[in-house]
Amino acid sequence: MRDVVVIGAGLAGAAAALRLSDAGRTVTLIEARARLGGRTYSRPMGDTPDLVEFGGSWICDWHDRMKSHAARFGMALRPTLPVAERRWHDGQELRTDSPVAPEKLAAHLAGLKAVQEDSLAMLGGSGRWQTGNPWAAMSFADYMVAKGLPETVQREFIAWWTISGSGDITKVNVLDALHSASKCGGTMEATFEELSHTIDGGVGTLAERMIMGSGAEVILGDAVVEVTDKGDHVVLRLSSGQAVLAGRVVLAVPVNAVDTIRFDPTLRPAQARLAREKHQGRAIKMLLQVKGVRPGVLVTGQAEGLRLMFAERNLADGSTLIIGFGLYDEVPDTSFAAMQRAVAQFFPEATLLAHDWHDWIRDPWSSGTWVSHGIGQGPVFAGPEWAAKGRLHFATSDIASSESGWFEGAIIAGEAVAETILGINHL
Ligand SMILES: Cc1cc2nc3c(=O)[nH]c(=O)nc-3n(C[C@H](O)[C@H](O)[C@H](O)COP(=O)(O)OP(=O)(O)OC[C@H]3O[C@@H](n4cnc5c(N)ncnc54)[C@H](O)[C@@H]3O)c2cc1C
Repeated sequence: MRDVVVIGAGLAGAAAALRLSDAGRTVTLIEARARLGGRTYSRPMGDTPDLVEFGGSWICDWHDRMKSHAARFGMALRPTLPVAERRWHDGQELRTDSPVAPEKLAAHLAGLKAVQEDSLAMLGGSGRWQTGNPWAAMSFADYMVAKGLPETVQREFIAWWTISGSGDITKVNVLDALHSASKCGGTMEATFEELSHTIDGGVGTLAERMIMGSGAEVILGDAVVEVTDKGDHVVLRLSSGQAVLAGRVVLAVPVNAVDTIRFDPTLRPAQARLAREKHQGRAIKMLLQVKGVRPGVLVTGQAEGLRLMFAERNLADGSTLIIGFGLYDEVPDTSFAAMQRAVAQFFPEATLLAHDWHDWIRDPWSSGTWVSHGIGQGPVFAGPEWAAKGRLHFATSDIASSESGWFEGAIIAGEAVAETILGINHL
């Protein structure tokens, strides 16, 4: 029997396994997919040798745990290219001088300011889920109507939403969007400047190195289907039929994949409800390999459902990688022809060479992208419901006490449960 079995080989599971192994505990890590890394996923696209991030890519300046793990495992940080050129597309017209026509500019700026004021109001107190916040029960869509935001501001707000929260605007709480901008002086545009670095060589590679570096035994391509807490140990049943015994278990799977496992005894009612309802993160991240575009161009607007594109860098063959974001349900057509049309709207100078993406929504081991809270869900994600239950401990970025939704949150959550387990005298 191992001291601890970690379920899920994303960054939360990696961080937990590493900390526990560093402290001398025997750890087995069980992963449903045939690869390590979870929602980090670095692999080449098209014919280029470059590693591209199909899952998450950016870290912020204050993400010290990510930085320190990168340093420990010999990986350098690559600064995000600053925005060199800004464009806006309203579905009909591409603008390079100003977000809107001159006659609409005053109303546009007033609308942006109104959102900024609400966003900065979030900074009071803990800056998180303040009780009494007037927008706490309101959806993103209803907020825009209640504020009377001009259509141009609505379009801009949704474009930025595709890289902050990303859920269906009729189902998510507007607090996520306001909170995200609040950290950046209240402006949506500035949220992009916070994405300071990525990991050169791939965030997925970092996750792999953390897991390999932990020395944990790894079982790949075998999902956990049942967890039974016997009181003095835990029995896990895998999809292959194999049984694994553990002193303690760290459940490091996304909230949206918790319902792939049967628990005996059952989870707390709030946990079970969330696992059923799921969080609302439904983004599409489209990778577009083009020629004819210089890196550093940022475009927001509407093009075949994609609402934000950034020409991120040159690839080894001299082509350019554009990263496109949209709301999943707004992009029904992901064919080459549709992406050609999308690129032509934002980058008329471009020739699309290849496109690729990973469908995180239909992938049963994520069933969503990064965490995005439905109305009323927010407090349950970081609440006491996720404290240890018997011999079962919970760790994923989705429920992290801070930096939830980010890589950093995954590490915070993984290390926190490891410390809890290490603080228990008898495994
Ligand atoms: C498209 C996209 C873009 C993103 N962009 C960024 C970004 O730029 N910056 C950033 O910081 N964050 C970003 N994120 C979020 C970030 O990737 C996640 O918050 C973080 O990686 C989650 O780590 P985790 O360990 O909590 O979960 P995961 O990485 O999802 O790991 C959980 C693991 O559990 C496994 N699993 C699930 N069910 C079972 C089962 N029954 N049995 C065994 N294993 C199971 C899964 O296969 C997975 O490997 C992005 C995410 C996506 C999808």
